[in-house]
Amino acid sequence: MHATTIDRSHDPARRSWVASANESGTDFPIQNLPWGVFRDDEGAAHIGIAIGDQVLDAQAAVLDNHLPDLPGTISCALCAPTLNQFMGLGHDSWTAARHAIADLLDAESQTRDELLRPMAGTEMLLPATIGDYTDFYASRYHATNVGRMFRPDGEPLMPNYLHLPVGYHGRASSVVVSGTPVRRPHGQLKPDDAAPVFKPVRLLDYELEFGAFIGEGNDMGTRVQMDQAMDRLFGIVILNDWSARDVQKWEYQPLGPFNAKNFASTISPWVVTMDALAPFRLPGPARLDEDPGLLDYLRPVTEDVLDVTCEVHLASATMREAGEEPLRLTRGSLSDLCWSFAQMLAHHTSTGCPMHAGDLIGSGTISGPSKDSRGCLLELTWRGTEPIELPDGTQRRFLLDGDELTINAFCESGDARRIGLGSCSGIVTPAC
Ligand code: MN
Repeated sequence: MHATTIDRSHDPARRSWVASANESGTDFPIQNLPWGVFRDDEGAAHIGIAIGDQVLDAQAAVLDNHLPDLPGTISCALCAPTLNQFMGLGHDSWTAARHAIADLLDAESQTRDELLRPMAGTEMLLPATIGDYTDFYASRYHATNVGRMFRPDGEPLMPNYLHLPVGYHGRASSVVVSGTPVRRPHGQLKPDDAAPVFKPVRLLDYELEFGAFIGEGNDMGTRVQMDQAMDRLFGIVILNDWSARDVQKWEYQPLGPFNAKNFASTISPWVVTMDALAPFRLPGPARLDEDPGLLDYLRPVTEDVLDVTCEVHLASATMREAGEEPLRLTRGSLSDLCWSFAQMLAHHTSTGCPMHAGDLIGSGTISGPSKDSRGCLLELTWRGTEPIELPDGTQRRFLLDGDELTINAFCESGDARRIGLGSCSGIVTPAC
């Protein structure tokens, strides 16, 4: 098992001249340094780094010569309007940039307030141009619950489930950044005892997921092996895979999800790098004694499991108007998955399928063993048979217009400095 690299960029004692980055509850201390893209005052897209409650303008840092030791390839990539070029430079370049940014922001360095802007009020854009998006199904708890609901008479898991990470090719065009309203889609729905109808979907759901951005891709005909996979992944975001369960139920056989999943998938704006996550990597994923053995090409050789806690909150329009706290629906962990992002990437490329910098892979709904760790309403309300009571006196089986769904995530373990992924949210707007 390769050891994960912990270096001075993870030192929990390290502090920044940005005061808010030193507060204990911040998602973005100097040990995190996630990457995103924001719109500047002239409307141009710039790469930024989150630090405390501020955004550091990477292009300004380069042009004002505050990152003089970085090679030209990196400086040039940091002045681009998306992260694709930087993602494609590979792991050594990401680490070099991380160290240079950490040194610039270090409490021992000179204050450079002119490079910052407040995060509040800054419009965030998609961090990369997403060429391809693939969504997996890596939680055995989720797959088991869904299997029990849809195939009550059979084995809940399909025969392939513990042999390979199951996925489908999704729609990159419908991936949007946190804060984008999500319009209730129309769909073809099939009532139990009547002909199909076309109308606004009724069983609108969320899916608690994480997404991993591909950094250094692979050429067509080549594979990414397990010992390389984690270093090819640039970082992770929170992902909400909005889903139309009534469409899904009617359309999914024989080729899997299609329109049920192609109207919106929301991601958080800040990409937390695999470097920042190094203190939170664990061996695994764990398998049960009775599980089949893994084929060699999927066998873990590095620490591939990410210990990230995630929480889902729901606030109806009435709750927001009354100033009520959102209701927590779920608390789960990325470490509950039975397939890692490394295994998903190794399997995805096992045919020689080329992946490119900025491609996104989704984990699939993250559910854990307990009821309060179920990652979607389909499971939480058991297909609508056990509705949830909201503080405003209404019930939810599935999402209603005006509902705001927010996912937060953070890493907290051992002596490491706590880091967070920020939040991923969206409000459901009526069908048009
Ligand atoms: Mn999904």
